[in-house]
Amino acid sequence: MNTTMSSLSPIRQTAIISAIAALLSVAFTGTVYLLFFGVDDRFWPAINMSLLIPWAITIPLGLHMSKQRYKLVGLTNRLKEAQTKLRDANKALEQRANFDGMTGLLSRDSFFHQLELMRVDEKANVLMIVDVDHFKNINDNFGHPIGDQALILLGKVFRKTLRDNDLVGRIGGEEFGVFLPETSAPEGQIIGEIIRHEIENTIFEPCHNMRHVITVSIGVTDIASHQQRAAILGNADTALFTAKRRGRNQVVMFEPGMRAKPRPVHDTVQNLKAAISHSNFR
Ligand code: GH3
Ligand code: MG
Ligand code: MG
Repeated sequence: MNTTMSSLSPIRQTAIISAIAALLSVAFTGTVYLLFFGVDDRFWPAINMSLLIPWAITIPLGLHMSKQRYKLVGLTNRLKEAQTKLRDANKALEQRANFDGMTGLLSRDSFFHQLELMRVDEKANVLMIVDVDHFKNINDNFGHPIGDQALILLGKVFRKTLRDNDLVGRIGGEEFGVFLPETSAPEGQIIGEIIRHEIENTIFEPCHNMRHVITVSIGVTDIASHQQRAAILGNADTALFTAKRRGRNQVVMFEPGMRAKPRPVHDTVQNLKAAISHSNFR
């Protein structure tokens, strides 16, 4: 009954309540009047009054309730709109935080976060770092916006080449991270080679009727059980450094004993300063 009533419009609800109230009022007044006074010449005017009074009370009340209800409906709609806007804004923020705005690939933080979630230590996993060769030349020769176009194109190549479960993120300016879950080192090397080949054979036109061959160097490492992120990254970076040293446009698998990339002079000086300030020899 409640559900049926509440599904009616306020005007109809008021009309039904008023009619019931009028009938009850007539029945009550008529019975009481007959009991006390019998039928006399004031009986019908009393009945008429008892019929009108409930309507006189419930109609203005119903109109007021109806106005309040419309206000409430308006407020609820505005609240819903605000909620939708908030949800969209949250989504946009999440998108901005998790994805690189230019290439649409995962951002650096998001890439490493997801890598930690996806790595299965009992199985083989592979990380590779892909760095564009002589990217500065593209910027210097054709301008920064064309350099951006090259990065966007590379993003597309990654998406086209990699499997659904693989992760790819832009982890630096012209540096990309690729994580291959449940993949052995030899498989990783083959996939690295496929990526390298695809990029080298992708047509990039920095300006009309001009083709520029983009190549990349790739450092690959398998991920040992419970190995820390810094160590994994260090291995992939060392392999990448080796690929650059060997002439670029190649895939190199990390091997223990490989010469690590020298730390930038600035870092070394900072480390020395920190070591001196913490030592007892002053
Ligand atoms: P290498 O083969 O040794 O990697 O040479 P490289 O020129 O690619 O390497 P380097 O690290 O010296 O230069 C990378 C350049 O990438 C420098 C920087 O200006 C450019 N770069 C970084 N981020 C962006 C970007 O978002 N857009 C563009 N257009 N260029 C960028
Ligand atoms: Mg580079
Ligand atoms: Mg680089």
